[in-house]
Amino acid sequence: MATATAAASAEAVVTPYGPERVRPLHDAAAITARIEELGVRIGRDYAAQEIVLCAVLKGSFVFVADLCRAIPLRVAVEFIGISSYGSRTETSGVVKITQDLSVPVEGRHVLVVEDIVDTGLTMQYLRENLMTRHPASLKICTLLHKPARARAEVPLDYVGFVIPDEFVVGYGLDYDQRYRNLPYIGVLQP
Ligand code: 5GP
Repeated sequence: MATATAAASAEAVVTPYGPERVRPLHDAAAITARIEELGVRIGRDYAAQEIVLCAVLKGSFVFVADLCRAIPLRVAVEFIGISSYGSRTETSGVVKITQDLSVPVEGRHVLVVEDIVDTGLTMQYLRENLMTRHPASLKICTLLHKPARARAEVPLDYVGFVIPDEFVVGYGLDYDQRYRNLPYIGVLQP
């Protein structure tokens, strides 16, 4: 599994968003390469079955766009909107579905696509919710995982990068709705 790399020591860069700087953690090339690997693994594991990618809004919209093109299977793409109550940088674990899937997933192979699993509370809630819909199988793919802060036991079947306990932005991830369009993942500098 890939972890934070030498890129982590890169200089913090100025972005279009104001005075805060962002220290690159995984650049665009590393992300592309890792997603290619995940796509191959997913293709192999599901062995020609059709899957429903269930992307968690908003953060995973960039990831799912790249991931779905790396998976050599028939895929359907669905979105689920979730809001978790908490501060700007931390979830409370109390989660509400703000936009539901547009189709039933009973009897289908569901792969949840998430941008980041931090405490795991959001994913635990989502997993329990989706299981009540009786999918044929349910797996989780997250681009980022911060194991240092885990508070819930959730099986993560596919993980892009394990990252340290720092607040990251870019490649879909935001701070106050900003930074989502940065093509790399970086640590927001205070
Ligand atoms: P969890 O329930 O696993 O603690 O949190 C999951 C959600 O918290 C993510 O979907 C994301 O919205 C937010 N989150 C947790 N860590 C980070 C981070 O480092 N950066 C950003 N942008 N969001 C984060």
